[in-house]
Amino acid sequence: MKTAVFIEPGKIDVQELPKPEVKNPTDAVLKIVRACVCGSDLWWYRGINQRQANTPVGHEAIGVVESVGAEVTNVKPGDFVVAPFTHGCGHCAACLAGFDGNCENAQTDDEIVGYQGEYLRFRNADWALVKIPGQPSDYTDAQLNDLLTLSDVMATGYHAAATAEVKAGDTVVVMGDGAVGLCGIIAAKLRGATQIIAMSRHEDRQRLATEFGATDIVAERGDEAVARVMALTDGAGADAVLECVGTEQSVDTAVKVGRAGAVVGCVGVPQKAEMNTNNLFWQNIGLRGGIASVTTYDRAVLLDAVLNGDIHPGKVFTKRFDLDDVQAAYEAMDHREAIKSLLIVSD
Ligand SMILES: [Zn+2]
Ligand SMILES: [Zn+2]
Repeated sequence: MKTAVFIEPGKIDVQELPKPEVKNPTDAVLKIVRACVCGSDLWWYRGINQRQANTPVGHEAIGVVESVGAEVTNVKPGDFVVAPFTHGCGHCAACLAGFDGNCENAQTDDEIVGYQGEYLRFRNADWALVKIPGQPSDYTDAQLNDLLTLSDVMATGYHAAATAEVKAGDTVVVMGDGAVGLCGIIAAKLRGATQIIAMSRHEDRQRLATEFGATDIVAERGDEAVARVMALTDGAGADAVLECVGTEQSVDTAVKVGRAGAVVGCVGVPQKAEMNTNNLFWQNIGLRGGIASVTTYDRAVLLDAVLNGDIHPGKVFTKRFDLDDVQAAYEAMDHREAIKSLLIVSD
Protein backbone atom coordinates (compact mmCIF):
# COMPACT_ATOMS: atom_id res chain seq x y z
CA MET A 1 0.00 0.00 0.00
CA LYS A 2 1.02 3.61 -0.54
CA THR A 3 1.69 5.73 2.52
CA ALA A 4 3.29 9.11 3.27
CA VAL A 5 6.67 8.83 5.01
CA PHE A 6 8.84 11.48 6.67
CA ILE A 7 12.34 11.49 5.15
CA GLU A 8 13.93 14.63 6.60
CA PRO A 9 12.76 18.17 7.41
CA GLY A 10 11.03 19.57 4.31
CA LYS A 11 10.75 16.18 2.62
CA ILE A 12 7.79 13.76 2.62
CA ASP A 13 7.78 10.78 0.30
CA VAL A 14 5.05 8.36 -0.79
CA GLN A 15 6.35 4.81 -0.31
CA GLU A 16 5.07 1.31 -0.90
CA LEU A 17 4.79 -0.41 2.51
CA PRO A 18 3.20 -3.73 3.53
CA LYS A 19 -0.54 -3.40 4.15
CA PRO A 20 -1.15 -3.36 7.93
CA GLU A 21 -2.89 -6.24 9.70
CA VAL A 22 -4.65 -6.52 13.04
CA LYS A 23 -1.88 -7.01 15.64
CA ASN A 24 -3.68 -6.56 18.97
CA PRO A 25 -7.21 -7.83 19.69
CA THR A 26 -8.26 -4.18 20.19
CA ASP A 27 -7.09 -3.08 16.69
CA ALA A 28 -9.01 -2.41 13.51
CA VAL A 29 -7.57 -1.94 10.03
CA LEU A 30 -9.16 0.91 8.06
CA LYS A 31 -9.18 1.68 4.34
CA ILE A 32 -8.62 5.43 4.33
CA VAL A 33 -10.95 7.61 2.25
CA ARG A 34 -9.66 11.09 3.10
CA ALA A 35 -6.84 12.38 5.31
CA CYS A 36 -5.30 15.80 5.90
CA VAL A 37 -2.26 17.71 7.11
CA CYS A 38 -2.31 19.25 10.61
CA GLY A 39 -0.68 22.46 11.80
CA SER A 40 1.16 20.31 14.36
CA ASP A 41 2.67 18.23 11.51
CA LEU A 42 4.57 21.37 10.49
CA TRP A 43 6.58 21.22 13.70
CA TRP A 44 8.62 18.23 12.58
CA TYR A 45 8.25 19.11 8.87
CA ARG A 46 10.08 22.35 9.65
CA GLY A 47 12.64 20.54 11.78
CA ILE A 48 11.62 22.38 14.97
CA ASN A 49 10.68 19.06 16.60
CA GLN A 50 12.74 15.90 16.12
CA ARG A 51 11.18 13.02 14.25
CA GLN A 52 12.63 9.65 13.40
CA ALA A 53 13.42 9.37 9.67
CA ASN A 54 11.40 6.93 7.51
CA THR A 55 8.32 6.96 9.75
CA PRO A 56 4.74 7.06 8.41
CA VAL A 57 2.95 10.36 9.10
CA GLY A 58 -0.49 11.85 9.70
CA HIS A 59 -3.08 11.58 12.46
CA GLU A 60 -6.40 12.72 10.94
CA ALA A 61 -8.61 10.62 8.63
CA ILE A 62 -11.97 9.08 7.78
CA GLY A 63 -12.23 5.58 6.35
CA VAL A 64 -14.02 2.25 6.11
CA VAL A 65 -13.33 -0.64 8.50
CA GLU A 66 -11.60 -3.49 6.68
CA SER A 67 -10.96 -5.96 9.52
CA VAL A 68 -11.21 -6.00 13.33
CA GLY A 69 -9.52 -7.78 16.24
CA ALA A 70 -11.32 -10.28 18.48
CA GLU A 71 -12.21 -7.68 21.16
CA VAL A 72 -13.72 -5.15 18.74
CA THR A 73 -17.53 -5.43 18.65
CA ASN A 74 -18.82 -1.84 18.32
CA VAL A 75 -17.64 -1.56 14.71
CA LYS A 76 -17.50 -4.22 12.00
CA PRO A 77 -15.98 -4.54 8.51
CA GLY A 78 -17.76 -2.20 6.11
CA ASP A 79 -18.56 0.50 8.69
CA PHE A 80 -17.74 4.09 7.72
CA VAL A 81 -15.86 5.79 10.60
CA VAL A 82 -14.05 8.87 11.85
CA ALA A 83 -10.50 7.90 12.91
CA PRO A 84 -9.66 10.33 15.76
CA PHE A 85 -6.03 11.09 16.57
CA THR A 86 -6.88 10.01 20.13
CA HIS A 87 -7.24 6.34 21.05
CA GLY A 88 -9.53 6.23 24.05
CA CYS A 89 -10.26 2.83 25.61
CA GLY A 90 -13.55 4.11 27.02
CA HIS A 91 -13.11 2.53 30.45
CA CYS A 92 -10.08 4.07 32.23
CA ALA A 93 -10.50 6.96 34.70
CA ALA A 94 -9.54 9.59 32.08
CA CYS A 95 -11.96 8.27 29.45
CA LEU A 96 -14.78 7.90 31.98
CA ALA A 97 -14.23 11.52 33.05
CA GLY A 98 -14.56 12.65 29.42
CA PHE A 99 -10.85 13.12 28.71
CA ASP A 100 -10.21 10.39 26.16
CA GLY A 101 -7.27 12.40 24.78
CA ASN A 102 -5.52 11.45 28.02
CA CYS A 103 -6.51 7.74 27.92
CA GLU A 104 -4.31 5.64 30.20
CA ASN A 105 -4.47 2.71 27.76
CA ALA A 106 -3.99 4.59 24.47
CA GLN A 107 -0.54 3.13 23.80
CA THR A 108 -0.98 -0.57 23.07
CA ASP A 109 2.36 -0.97 21.25
CA ASP A 110 5.27 1.15 20.01
CA GLU A 111 4.83 0.94 16.24
CA ILE A 112 4.43 4.34 14.57
CA VAL A 113 1.42 4.38 12.26
CA GLY A 114 0.44 7.06 9.73
CA TYR A 115 -3.08 8.16 8.77
CA GLN A 116 -1.83 9.68 5.47
CA GLY A 117 -1.83 6.36 3.64
CA GLU A 118 -4.11 3.85 1.96
CA TYR A 119 -4.58 1.70 5.09
CA LEU A 120 -4.23 2.30 8.83
CA ARG A 121 -3.98 0.00 11.84
CA PHE A 122 -6.03 1.82 14.47
CA ARG A 123 -5.57 1.17 18.21
CA ASN A 124 -8.44 0.84 20.72
CA ALA A 125 -10.84 0.69 17.80
CA ASP A 126 -13.79 -0.60 19.80
CA TRP A 127 -14.45 2.66 21.66
CA ALA A 128 -12.35 5.32 19.96
CA LEU A 129 -13.68 5.00 16.39
CA VAL A 130 -16.76 7.10 15.69
CA LYS A 131 -19.30 5.36 13.43
CA ILE A 132 -20.81 7.47 10.64
CA PRO A 133 -24.20 6.36 9.25
CA GLY A 134 -24.14 4.88 5.74
CA GLN A 135 -21.20 4.84 3.33
CA PRO A 136 -18.86 7.52 1.92
CA SER A 137 -20.87 7.48 -1.35
CA ASP A 138 -23.94 8.69 0.59
CA TYR A 139 -22.24 12.04 1.29
CA THR A 140 -21.36 15.10 -0.77
CA ASP A 141 -17.79 16.23 -1.18
CA ALA A 142 -18.39 19.07 1.32
CA GLN A 143 -19.96 16.71 3.87
CA LEU A 144 -16.99 14.32 3.65
CA ASN A 145 -14.72 17.27 4.44
CA ASP A 146 -16.92 18.26 7.40
CA LEU A 147 -16.72 14.66 8.70
CA LEU A 148 -12.93 14.59 8.27
CA THR A 149 -12.52 17.57 10.64
CA LEU A 150 -14.04 15.40 13.40
CA SER A 151 -10.78 13.41 13.56
CA ASP A 152 -8.98 16.37 15.16
CA VAL A 153 -9.36 20.03 14.20
CA MET A 154 -13.08 20.54 14.90
CA ALA A 155 -12.90 18.54 18.13
CA THR A 156 -9.79 20.47 19.19
CA GLY A 157 -11.53 23.80 18.52
CA TYR A 158 -14.47 22.51 20.54
CA HIS A 159 -12.13 21.52 23.37
CA ALA A 160 -10.90 25.12 23.57
CA ALA A 161 -14.49 26.33 23.93
CA ALA A 162 -15.49 23.58 26.36
CA THR A 163 -12.53 24.05 28.69
CA ALA A 164 -13.03 27.84 28.54
CA GLU A 165 -16.60 27.11 29.69
CA VAL A 166 -18.25 29.07 26.87
CA LYS A 167 -22.01 29.33 27.48
CA ALA A 168 -25.05 31.03 25.96
CA GLY A 169 -24.79 34.81 25.80
CA ASP A 170 -21.01 34.93 26.34
CA THR A 171 -18.52 37.30 24.80
CA VAL A 172 -15.63 35.16 23.56
CA VAL A 173 -12.17 36.01 22.24
CA VAL A 174 -10.52 33.47 19.90
CA MET A 175 -6.71 33.73 19.62
CA GLY A 176 -5.34 32.19 16.42
CA ASP A 177 -6.80 32.11 12.90
CA GLY A 178 -5.43 28.72 11.82
CA ALA A 179 -7.82 25.85 11.21
CA VAL A 180 -8.13 25.15 14.96
CA GLY A 181 -8.92 28.77 15.82
CA LEU A 182 -11.49 28.92 13.03
CA CYS A 183 -13.10 25.74 14.40
CA GLY A 184 -12.99 27.39 17.84
CA ILE A 185 -15.23 30.12 16.42
CA ILE A 186 -17.68 27.48 15.18
CA ALA A 187 -17.61 25.86 18.62
CA ALA A 188 -18.17 29.14 20.48
CA LYS A 189 -21.20 29.87 18.30
CA LEU A 190 -22.49 26.30 18.72
CA ARG A 191 -22.35 26.79 22.51
CA GLY A 192 -24.36 30.01 22.26
CA ALA A 193 -21.78 32.81 22.41
CA THR A 194 -23.30 36.06 21.12
CA GLN A 195 -20.16 38.16 20.63
CA ILE A 196 -17.15 36.37 19.12
CA ILE A 197 -14.00 38.43 18.65
CA ALA A 198 -11.52 36.75 16.28
CA MET A 199 -7.84 37.73 16.43
CA SER A 200 -6.77 37.50 12.79
CA ARG A 201 -4.54 39.42 10.44
CA HIS A 202 -4.96 37.41 7.22
CA GLU A 203 -7.75 38.46 4.87
CA ASP A 204 -8.75 34.94 3.70
CA ARG A 205 -8.96 33.76 7.31
CA GLN A 206 -10.87 36.88 8.43
CA ARG A 207 -13.47 36.11 5.76
CA LEU A 208 -13.89 32.52 6.96
CA ALA A 209 -13.93 33.66 10.60
CA THR A 210 -16.85 35.97 9.83
CA GLU A 211 -18.63 33.21 7.89
CA PHE A 212 -18.20 30.86 10.88
CA GLY A 213 -19.73 33.38 13.32
CA ALA A 214 -17.13 35.95 14.36
CA THR A 215 -18.82 39.30 15.08
CA ASP A 216 -15.61 41.34 15.34
CA ILE A 217 -12.10 41.00 13.91
CA VAL A 218 -9.01 42.29 15.71
CA ALA A 219 -5.86 42.40 13.58
CA GLU A 220 -3.63 44.02 16.22
CA ARG A 221 -1.29 42.07 18.52
CA GLY A 222 0.00 42.49 22.06
CA ASP A 223 -1.05 45.60 24.03
CA GLU A 224 -2.88 47.08 21.04
CA ALA A 225 -4.96 43.90 20.74
CA VAL A 226 -5.83 44.08 24.46
CA ALA A 227 -6.92 47.72 24.05
CA ARG A 228 -9.11 46.84 21.05
CA VAL A 229 -10.85 44.00 22.91
CA MET A 230 -11.46 46.25 25.91
CA ALA A 231 -13.00 48.87 23.59
CA LEU A 232 -15.22 46.23 21.97
CA THR A 233 -16.43 44.96 25.37
CA ASP A 234 -17.07 48.37 27.04
CA GLY A 235 -13.95 47.87 29.14
CA ALA A 236 -15.18 44.59 30.65
CA GLY A 237 -13.05 42.00 28.84
CA ALA A 238 -14.26 38.64 27.54
CA ASP A 239 -16.21 36.00 29.47
CA ALA A 240 -14.11 33.26 27.88
CA VAL A 241 -10.91 33.11 25.84
CA LEU A 242 -9.88 30.36 23.38
CA GLU A 243 -6.09 30.17 23.01
CA CYS A 244 -5.33 28.29 19.78
CA VAL A 245 -1.73 29.38 19.10
CA GLY A 246 0.53 28.32 21.99
CA THR A 247 3.13 31.09 21.77
CA GLU A 248 4.13 33.06 24.86
CA GLN A 249 2.68 36.29 23.42
CA SER A 250 -0.63 34.65 22.56
CA VAL A 251 -1.07 33.14 26.03
CA ASP A 252 -0.07 36.48 27.59
CA THR A 253 -2.65 38.37 25.51
CA ALA A 254 -5.30 35.69 26.18
CA VAL A 255 -4.92 36.18 29.93
CA LYS A 256 -5.16 39.97 29.62
CA VAL A 257 -8.32 40.11 27.46
CA GLY A 258 -10.40 38.03 29.91
CA ARG A 259 -12.63 39.68 32.51
CA ALA A 260 -12.07 38.82 36.18
CA GLY A 261 -12.94 35.15 36.68
CA ALA A 262 -12.75 34.26 32.99
CA VAL A 263 -11.29 30.92 31.91
CA VAL A 264 -8.73 30.63 29.12
CA GLY A 265 -9.07 27.34 27.18
CA CYS A 266 -5.68 26.42 25.66
CA VAL A 267 -5.28 24.03 22.75
CA GLY A 268 -2.20 25.55 21.13
CA VAL A 269 0.70 23.24 21.98
CA PRO A 270 2.79 25.27 24.48
CA GLN A 271 6.07 26.41 22.98
CA LYS A 272 7.60 27.44 26.29
CA ALA A 273 7.80 25.29 29.39
CA GLU A 274 7.27 28.01 31.97
CA MET A 275 4.84 30.91 32.41
CA ASN A 276 4.16 33.72 34.86
CA THR A 277 1.07 32.71 36.85
CA ASN A 278 0.87 36.00 38.78
CA ASN A 279 -1.23 37.51 36.00
CA LEU A 280 -3.78 34.76 36.60
CA PHE A 281 -3.91 35.35 40.35
CA TRP A 282 -4.58 39.08 40.30
CA GLN A 283 -7.59 38.72 37.99
CA ASN A 284 -8.93 35.34 39.18
CA ILE A 285 -8.28 34.02 35.67
CA GLY A 286 -8.46 30.26 35.13
CA LEU A 287 -6.18 28.46 32.70
CA ARG A 288 -7.24 25.07 31.33
CA GLY A 289 -6.94 23.03 28.18
CA GLY A 290 -4.81 20.29 26.72
CA ILE A 291 -5.35 17.37 24.37
CA ALA A 292 -8.89 17.29 22.98
CA SER A 293 -11.46 14.64 23.93
CA VAL A 294 -12.16 13.80 20.31
CA THR A 295 -14.39 10.73 20.57
CA THR A 296 -16.33 12.21 23.50
CA TYR A 297 -17.19 15.45 21.65
CA ASP A 298 -17.86 13.73 18.33
CA ARG A 299 -20.40 11.39 19.91
CA ALA A 300 -22.00 13.99 22.19
CA VAL A 301 -22.25 17.01 19.87
CA LEU A 302 -20.19 17.29 16.73
CA LEU A 303 -21.25 14.33 14.56
CA ASP A 304 -24.91 15.34 14.84
CA ALA A 305 -24.04 19.00 14.21
CA VAL A 306 -22.29 17.98 10.96
CA LEU A 307 -24.98 15.49 9.88
CA ASN A 308 -27.71 18.09 10.51
CA GLY A 309 -25.77 20.67 8.51
CA ASP A 310 -25.56 23.02 11.51
CA ILE A 311 -21.80 23.50 11.09
CA HIS A 312 -19.47 23.40 8.08
CA PRO A 313 -15.93 23.05 9.45
CA GLY A 314 -14.77 21.36 6.21
CA LYS A 315 -14.42 24.86 4.73
CA VAL A 316 -11.00 25.05 6.43
CA PHE A 317 -9.70 22.83 3.60
CA THR A 318 -8.76 25.45 1.05
CA LYS A 319 -6.54 23.19 -1.07
CA ARG A 320 -6.83 19.53 -2.06
CA PHE A 321 -4.22 17.01 -3.18
CA ASP A 322 -3.98 13.35 -4.15
CA LEU A 323 -1.96 11.19 -1.77
CA ASP A 324 0.79 11.04 -4.43
CA ASP A 325 1.19 14.83 -4.10
CA VAL A 326 1.56 14.83 -0.30
CA GLN A 327 4.79 16.85 -0.52
CA ALA A 328 2.86 19.69 -2.20
CA ALA A 329 0.15 19.42 0.49
CA TYR A 330 2.74 20.07 3.21
CA GLU A 331 4.37 22.87 1.22
CA ALA A 332 1.03 24.64 0.73
CA MET A 333 0.52 24.77 4.51
CA ASP A 334 4.14 25.58 5.25
CA HIS A 335 3.95 28.55 2.84
CA ARG A 336 0.53 29.57 4.21
CA GLU A 337 -1.04 29.10 0.77
CA ALA A 338 -3.60 26.74 2.33
CA ILE A 339 -5.38 27.12 5.67
CA LYS A 340 -5.48 23.30 5.76
CA SER A 341 -4.52 20.76 3.09
CA LEU A 342 -6.91 17.93 2.20
CA LEU A 343 -5.62 14.57 0.93
CA ILE A 344 -7.90 12.48 -1.29
CA VAL A 345 -6.89 8.85 -0.74
CA SER A 346 -9.76 6.73 -2.18
CA ASP A 347 -13.47 6.97 -3.16
ZN1 LIG B 1 -3.94 17.33 14.07
ZN1 LIG C 1 -9.06 5.20 28.40
